Amino acid sequence: MLYCDDYNQKNIGECYSGCGGVSKPLLNKIVVLDPGHGGIYSGGVHYGFRESDINLSVALKVRKKLARLGAKVIMTRKRDVNLAPEGSTLDADLQARVDVAKNSGADIFVSLHVDDVPNINLKGVTSYFPEGRSSGLASAIQTSLVNEICVVDNGVSPANFYVLVHNDVPSALIEMGYLSNPAEALRLMNNSYQNLLARGIAKGILNYFLCR
Ligand SMILES: [Zn+2]
Repeated sequence: MLYCDDYNQKNIGECYSGCGGVSKPLLNKIVVLDPGHGGIYSGGVHYGFRESDINLSVALKVRKKLARLGAKVIMTRKRDVNLAPEGSTLDADLQARVDVAKNSGADIFVSLHVDDVPNINLKGVTSYFPEGRSSGLASAIQTSLVNEICVVDNGVSPANFYVLVHNDVPSALIEMGYLSNPAEALRLMNNSYQNLLARGIAKGILNYFLCR
């Protein structure tokens, strides 16, 4: 499905189906995928759609693609649940996500979100990296996403989000679009569009490991 007139998929994914005949280019890589929010923390809610559901749905698709490339993928959640017990602080829920990376020997940590702001005209993809540290992972994913999908490129930015600054491993937080924008909200709920997002993110992770 095409999402705008100037849709032009660039061929940056030569590595994607196997680099130089390597069928499992991400073998031995441990990737922690964090679908943002869940359970009592729904994240943004707009037009009847919940951010936590979109994050999870795309993350499960990314997991499948990375597993095909040989990576060991660990999800911070696979269902609609909060990670820390009810009554805990939000920070405890976020720390539990960081702990998944700590306890699994992760190579990288990628958190998936969608934006929700009062201005319904804002749209596009933004990738964040931990303030004062490398932007490499966020840049690889952002570049791949905007090449994969016809979407507004809001670039990469440093941020002090909890899951970024408390992670010891290279980490990125991807805002995959704006749930507050009516057109993007519809796309974000669309299965084909979610597959494009997942492909862009998976290719970005592959490029991060192989093309550095
Ligand atoms: Zn979020």
